Amino acid sequence: MTPAYDDQNIFARILRGEIPCDKVAENDHALAFRDINPAAPVHVLVIPKGAYVSFDDFCARASEAELAGFLRLSGQVAEAEGVALKRGAGFRAITNAGEHGVQEVPHFHLHILGGRGMGPMLTRRD
Ligand code: 5GP
Repeated sequence: MTPAYDDQNIFARILRGEIPCDKVAENDHALAFRDINPAAPVHVLVIPKGAYVSFDDFCARASEAELAGFLRLSGQVAEAEGVALKRGAGFRAITNAGEHGVQEVPHFHLHILGGRGMGPMLTRRD
C-alpha cells in the first residue's frame, strides 16, 4: 500500500523554498535540480510539484497536464545538460520506489545521470 505523503520530506521543503537547491529548470508542474551527492558528472533530479510518493503513485493519480509537464521537463533537462541523444552520448534515467527500490526521499523523483559510461544496470545480490 502506498504510504501517506509526508509533507516534511526534504523535497517538499525544497518545493516550499524552505531549503535551497541548485535549480536547473522548472515549469508549471515540475522542478529539476542537481543532486546534492552526485553519482556522475551529470546528476539531476526531476520532481513533480504535486504531492506524490513514488513513480507508481504519480502514474496512478497525476493529471494529464502533470504527466506531460514532468516528462517534457525531464527531456529538456537531458538536452540542456548535453547528454540527450540529439547531441550527447546518452544517459540513464532511474527512479527508486519503496523498500526494495531503496528509495531514500518519499517524494517521487527521476534521477538523470550521465557524463560518463554508466556501467551495468544492476549488481546481482543473490
Ligand atoms: P533516492 O534514493 O530516494 O532515489 O534518491 C534520493 C536522492 O536525493 C539522493 O541521490 C540524494 O543524494 C539526494 N538528496 C537528498 N537530500 C538532498 C537535498 O537536500 N538536496 C538535494 N539536491 N539532493 C538531495
